[in-house]
Amino acid sequence: MSGAPAHEHRHRAQRPGRLHVTRVRRVHRVTPRMARITFASEDLTRFLSNGTDQHVAMYFYEPWVVLPRPFTTEAARELLSRARPRLRRYTIRSHRPEMGEVDMDFVLHGGDQLASGWAEKAAPDDEAIWFGPSPAYPLDQEQDWTVLIGDETALPAIAVMLEQLPGNHPVQALIEVADADEELPLTTGIDARVTWLHRGRRPHGRLLLEHATRLKLPGGSGRVWGAAERSVVRELRRHFVRDRGLDRAATHLTAYWTKGETQDSEV
Ligand SMILES: Cc1cc2nc3c(=O)[nH]c(=O)nc-3n(C[C@H](O)[C@H](O)[C@H](O)COP(=O)(O)OP(=O)(O)OC[C@H]3O[C@@H](n4cnc5c(N)ncnc54)[C@H](O)[C@@H]3O)c2cc1C
Repeated sequence: MSGAPAHEHRHRAQRPGRLHVTRVRRVHRVTPRMARITFASEDLTRFLSNGTDQHVAMYFYEPWVVLPRPFTTEAARELLSRARPRLRRYTIRSHRPEMGEVDMDFVLHGGDQLASGWAEKAAPDDEAIWFGPSPAYPLDQEQDWTVLIGDETALPAIAVMLEQLPGNHPVQALIEVADADEELPLTTGIDARVTWLHRGRRPHGRLLLEHATRLKLPGGSGRVWGAAERSVVRELRRHFVRDRGLDRAATHLTAYWTKGETQDSEV
């Protein structure tokens, strides 16, 4: 699912993921279209973070599937021949091992869609099963600058990266959201420039592309991280690699969703 070249994977922070059987502890509407869900469990007190854009696969079983208990990685594997979960990817926004808690931010793009609909209705004590964390994008201290580009699905990852980059590292972030109500407070260093783009009635990603092509990149070596709808990411890759001549290894551009397709077709 990742757009990273094979050699880059070697450098990604990698602690192995595992199955987590959790309960929803809190749901907080951080914006009208974004729900922050706090997952809790005893085993999250031992959660090992991979940092930045680490994500998990949420497991959605059909309601008639009776899960064996305790539901472990092995039990899930054994169940595969009889029942396969549908998987949906979500980024870890923050984690508090001391409280056994992990937060993820869900874009509410449609109440009748699997993960989005689940998040819209989620309530304390609901069970949530997920596998993770994935490896994460390493923040290379050797780089002179970083560019972060994404829509609201990428906002959790961008927020973590802005928090984790050194305070004096030059970073430009382009973030496209539906409207001003969807902006979130972000913690950044002194040399960070964040541009919020309000989509309004425009197609997804159009503003991101317009602004990405106008970005002034500083001199020296830097890296571009981006995530958005698949066709937008394709255009971003074309722009930075073909038009601007950036080394492909200096870009990390990932499709986070595909217009008109469920994530079932990608896993
Ligand atoms: C590595 C990774 C990390 C991700 N992290 C996050 C995250 O932290 N928060 C988050 O909200 N999303 C995140 N996403 C995106 C999320 O996985 C997709 O949006 C996913 O398709 C949502 O599942 P669903 O069941 O709601 O919709 P699906 O069943 O997959 O799709 C149903 C329909 O909704 C459309 N659709 C899907 N997503 C959107 C959207 N955002 N806006 C408008 N239409 C949409 C599809 O095109 C399709 O037509 C991430 C994706 C990846 C690959």
